Amino acid sequence: MDLDHSPADEAFRAEARAWLAAHVPPAPLPSLETEEGFAAHRAWEAELAADRWSVVSWPAEYGGRSVGLLKWLIFEEEYYAAGAPGRVSQNGISLLAPTLFDHGTEEQRARILPPMASGEVIWAQAWSEPEAGSDLASLRSRAVRTDGGWLLSGQKTWSSRAAFADRAFGLFRSEPDTPKPHQGLTYVMFDLRAPGVTVRPIGRLDGKPAFAELFLDEVFVPDEDVIGEPGQGWRVAMSTAGNERGLTLRSPGRFLAAADRLIDLWHTHGDSTDTALRDRVADAMIGARAYQLFTYAHASRFLQGEPLGPESSLNKVFWSEYDIALHETALDLLGPEGELADTDWSEGYVFSLAGPVYAGTNEIQRDIIAERLLGLPKGRR
Ligand SMILES: Cc1cc2nc3c(=O)[nH]c(=O)nc-3n(C[C@H](O)[C@H](O)[C@H](O)COP(=O)(O)OP(=O)(O)OC[C@H]3O[C@@H](n4cnc5c(N)ncnc54)[C@H](O)[C@@H]3O)c2cc1C
Repeated sequence: MDLDHSPADEAFRAEARAWLAAHVPPAPLPSLETEEGFAAHRAWEAELAADRWSVVSWPAEYGGRSVGLLKWLIFEEEYYAAGAPGRVSQNGISLLAPTLFDHGTEEQRARILPPMASGEVIWAQAWSEPEAGSDLASLRSRAVRTDGGWLLSGQKTWSSRAAFADRAFGLFRSEPDTPKPHQGLTYVMFDLRAPGVTVRPIGRLDGKPAFAELFLDEVFVPDEDVIGEPGQGWRVAMSTAGNERGLTLRSPGRFLAAADRLIDLWHTHGDSTDTALRDRVADAMIGARAYQLFTYAHASRFLQGEPLGPESSLNKVFWSEYDIALHETALDLLGPEGELADTDWSEGYVFSLAGPVYAGTNEIQRDIIAERLLGLPKGRR
């Protein structure tokens, strides 16, 4: 693998850097987990989209620049290095969009993707249920056939930012009597403000109100909002989860920028005699660089036609555990100040604790690594 970027890559990097320098808000936006912050981040998505920086790897017809995965990684490095805001459109961009690229119709892509890219329609993921998390196939929410579409009923939970989002995508049981639980599921998109939808916020450790559960009572969804064939929802959902979560949910750019900030923190708060803490700061930079190289290698294999495969689980375990260690190091450097004040680091630490849970728990990822990458015997379930 050639580890040097081409002149075209470097020109792209320079263009992105110049645009970000001119546009990134000088002060951080309020948290996107609040109503005010959600609106501010939606406006930022529109600003990005106006100059086609919102979804650089997508085809131009949907608002992208058709530049591919490697330039997307470069863009992300510049994005986080510039201190640009977190992406409130992320569920749509990293989960629903790839699903539509793989399984949607032309009509769905043309209708759904441009307003997703501009932040006009922000999406929530409605997969989990109170009794269906890791074992997603045990979900019970139903889709019942009606004239021209389906009626959705049931309960979805742990839906990130659903309190303020516009629409959601999720899996519903459309055939109740199949021999296996992952059969007879249908993948649909629905409006969070449709009649029959109740959105109820779930309290979070940090008190922010955007996390929610959804109650659905005969919510009508037209046939045009079913992705893939009715009854084939599991296949549609798994292609999204397997492919994209390992590569695009958390780009290395985010961690390289955080490791740089940690080094700055060491310069202002570090004690040169505390070699143990100094080593943890060094480990944070080594981890960020290792993750960057692994991700470039992973992306290159994908671009050469190899499936992403179970290696995606290595990414997921790595970034989620790395994120916690990085934030713990920052809080130890800050001392009592880090515990008492509501800083980026304390907020980031609380959020990092959820990393080993969402996007598929790390226990499940380790099972995949053990069985499918290492060929170890199946564990007891
Ligand atoms: C911050 C946050 C945001 C989230 N956002 C969303 C969202 O936007 N949309 C959405 O649909 N969901 C979302 N989720 C839900 C998330 O996907 C689930 O929490 C996750 O899938 C785990 O499911 P569970 O909570 O039901 O735990 P369970 O599945 O009940 O697991 C409990 C524990 O048992 C372990 N376990 C279970 N089965 C096995 C097994 N076979 N082998 C080994 N260990 C096992 C798990 O790893 C875990 O440690 C979010 C969760 C969090 C914390």
